[in-house]
Amino acid sequence: MTKQKLTATTVTLLLGALATTATLQTPSTTRTVAFVGAKLFDGTGAALVDPATIVVSNGKIDQVGSSSTIKVPSGAERLDVSGKIITPGLINAHGHVGDTVGLQSDPKFYTAEHIRRQLQLYASYGVTTVFSLGGDREHGFSVRDALSKQPDTARLFVAGDVITGKTPEEARASVYRMADLKADIIKIRVDDNLGASTKMAPEVYRAVIDAAHQRGLRVAAHIFYLDDAKALLKAGVDFIAHSVRDKEVDAELMALLKQRDVCVCPTLTREVSTFVYETRPAFFDDPFFLRSVDAKVLAELTQLERQERYRTSKSGQAYKAALKVASRNLKALVDGGVRIAMGTDTGAPTGRFQGYFEHMELQLMSDAGLTPRQIITAATSDAARCLKMEGRLGTLQPGAAADFVVFGSNPIENIRHTRTLESVWIGGRRVSP
Ligand SMILES: [Zn+2]
Repeated sequence: MTKQKLTATTVTLLLGALATTATLQTPSTTRTVAFVGAKLFDGTGAALVDPATIVVSNGKIDQVGSSSTIKVPSGAERLDVSGKIITPGLINAHGHVGDTVGLQSDPKFYTAEHIRRQLQLYASYGVTTVFSLGGDREHGFSVRDALSKQPDTARLFVAGDVITGKTPEEARASVYRMADLKADIIKIRVDDNLGASTKMAPEVYRAVIDAAHQRGLRVAAHIFYLDDAKALLKAGVDFIAHSVRDKEVDAELMALLKQRDVCVCPTLTREVSTFVYETRPAFFDDPFFLRSVDAKVLAELTQLERQERYRTSKSGQAYKAALKVASRNLKALVDGGVRIAMGTDTGAPTGRFQGYFEHMELQLMSDAGLTPRQIITAATSDAARCLKMEGRLGTLQPGAAADFVVFGSNPIENIRHTRTLESVWIGGRRVSP
């Protein structure tokens, strides 16, 4: 037994007399707690364990496995979770935080308190980690740092500014600035927004990728076109932050992705948000959605005028068609052995609702033909691997963060069961409900 564990046990014994049901449900991160009796999907690729025991200490998984083999340390608190299903917490590999309130976006909203509120919203839907791919400023970095020490809401990782730059020199300078600020990843956009803007030039993104790699940082690229995805992969890009949406993916793209195990983040809900409000969407009656949405926002999104704008929006209709291509491409990529990281691009002021849209994304992945196991893997262990967090996040194995979700029904049988989440734990602490 380690010295740390002895200390935790001693604390538990001292506090034993004071323990009430409430404290049992919200153990501090320093106590040792055993979750006993649930069915476990640990994200490592192993079969479901039933019944399982997870021993959590100091915010990390200490022991995990079949209840018949794990010995719960004496003095540990025991939580009976029999009949439940536990999976690692969901990881959103492409979100955004800070600038949006309802359907408004304003830099003045970008405060530590607001970022934390949004991360708590994500957490309340079982999303325990968010990679914010751009638009992150000082408060984003400081919230990230605070949460790495004391994760009392969803963990945050940040890209900082989306790198622009007209020349390779300008772009390099921006990358170095983000590296000095300790960004977790570098984000670029290589897209003309359906012909409405100028695409980043190849010599500029090559400079970005080179500068980022020099500083030990990986590069995530927003793309739309197949040819750009290929060119970026040839230039060394590390993460594809959206689906290819103009054409069917082909063997060359898959080979390029698999060569360096580059992941694709489909963000299917991003497309949905561009056209779904042309009529009143069915999810406006979903209690799982309604529990977190502001009635004012619903009223705005159902204004006839606004619906008409969606219906006549050329880009909205183009993205509606693009969603079909993206869905087919997702299935082809998975069948071809490409690694997928779940992501949504939530947090933009376009009715991409943080928390709820992550579950919609899982459903869209299912509609595209993925199995629940493939989907949950993309939203946990593979998302973590894609972001170089493997062993730390996304799996429930000794040494990993105790970030997990307790479900009432098994999402590995039916993806809609992710809506049965009963409690969410981050760093061994119950953060929701
Ligand atoms: Zn984005």
